[in-house]
Amino acid sequence: MKKILLQLDGDRVPSVFDAITAYDAGADVLLQHGGVEVREVRDLVHGAMFTRGVGDLKNSAVFIGGTDVGRGEAMLREVGYAFFGPLRVSVMLDANGCNTTATAAVVKILSAGDLSGKKVVILAGTGPVGQRAAGLLAKEGAEVTLTSRTVERAEAVCVALGERFGVKIAPAACSDTGDARYVLEGAHAVLCAGAAGVPLVSEAIWRNHPTLRVLADVNAVPPLGVEGSEVTWSGKEIDGKKLFGAIGIGDFKMKVHRRCIAKLFEQNDLVLDAEEILALAKELAE
Ligand code: NAP
Repeated sequence: MKKILLQLDGDRVPSVFDAITAYDAGADVLLQHGGVEVREVRDLVHGAMFTRGVGDLKNSAVFIGGTDVGRGEAMLREVGYAFFGPLRVSVMLDANGCNTTATAAVVKILSAGDLSGKKVVILAGTGPVGQRAAGLLAKEGAEVTLTSRTVERAEAVCVALGERFGVKIAPAACSDTGDARYVLEGAHAVLCAGAAGVPLVSEAIWRNHPTLRVLADVNAVPPLGVEGSEVTWSGKEIDGKKLFGAIGIGDFKMKVHRRCIAKLFEQNDLVLDAEEILALAKELAE
């Protein structure tokens, strides 16, 4: 029986990246839908649920993508409402690569050692990647601080993350690399999660920093989030610190993405969101 992936994408043209990754991960057929509205999700999912017997439903699955992560989250909720009883298919949310990128970064940071009680700063953490990484790192026991250019935005995001992940995250304002010096005081690790091409930590700050041991950056577009680093670094050791660049993290993210897609076809009731994808990423890293 063919493995069929229903690709629901909020953008007008469904992501080519997600499609190729799905084929590489073992999907036989992709049913691609672009410009999907949240209200259209239920009927599309019913088409996947009602066409095969319960024992065969593991061969059908749903992938939610698109650049609008908020819409992707609403679509995931709608997929859940469409299911009943054993009539369900596995589903994964990775709008804009948010979950696979955040979990890959979190696993890389964790590879440098336990974070319990340690201060971890997510710079420019109000985007989809930073928010997920912040929630997941806090669940790992880190004392997480999340920054924005405006403290109000950081506060609002931290409240939302408290509700979503059941964790406490400290908000802070950080507008430039000068502010970063203060926010990073006492920090053990930092994740630069800013928009593409936004520099966040200067080399002068991190090279001589007395407590920083891990620096990770998901921005691959120059100038990088961590000045003086290279995108391909994956645990590069400098001055007693480990550095991870966007490609160093991105290579692992691709493995995580492919593993998740393959996993969708092993059972018919998986829901792969941030926490579940982190668990798979940790397994892969072992
Ligand atoms: P995003 O939403 O585009 O940006 C994150 C935050 O950066 C924004 O919420 C904003 O925070 C801050 N920001 C935006 N412009 C800024 C500026 N000019 N100066 C300072 N701060 C600025 O980010 P994302 O979608 O979460 O992605 C985060 C990073 O991961 C990006 O660099 C992206 O390219 C990369 N990414 C990589 C992959 C991959 O597979 N390798 C996948 C997805 C994303 P405030 O407005 O609150 O200050």
